[in-house]
Amino acid sequence: MRVGLGWDIHRLVPGRPLLLGGVRLPSDRGEDGFSDGDVLIHALIDALLGPAGLGDIGGNFPPGREDLRGISSLILLERAMDMLRGAGWSVGNVDCVVALESPRILPHVAAIRASLARALGVSADQVSVKGKTREGMGEVGEGRAVEAWAVALIGPSGGART
Ligand code: MG
Repeated sequence: MRVGLGWDIHRLVPGRPLLLGGVRLPSDRGEDGFSDGDVLIHALIDALLGPAGLGDIGGNFPPGREDLRGISSLILLERAMDMLRGAGWSVGNVDCVVALESPRILPHVAAIRASLARALGVSADQVSVKGKTREGMGEVGEGRAVEAWAVALIGPSGGART
């Protein structure tokens, strides 16, 4: 077994959708970014690729590459999972924290877990997502940014390489 850690932060700006784990949350601003800016998926991709020795999101999906402009981060996650499976790994579980001042993510956690589980090819009970606020402090607390952390446990898939 190997464990991976990922972290990301994005600015929140007007006129962009607020996406977390592929789910759009009601908000008058969303993540700035070259892709769709889904901060939770970006942290999760790094948590998955790192322990497999497959690098990170920036190296595999570099911002500035025209075919990745505006791309859904769910597609990037599916590509990362293809890389992981191709290298002989499967996912045990993932656990994530999102720091966001508003809206509260609790009402959306079930949808986010289901969305991530679908992309990871695991069941929702292998995916944990928790929301925290910064209690008004700093760029996240002032509503100017959203931050995410993820850990992932991976193990040998035990099957043939696909
Ligand atoms: Mg990012």
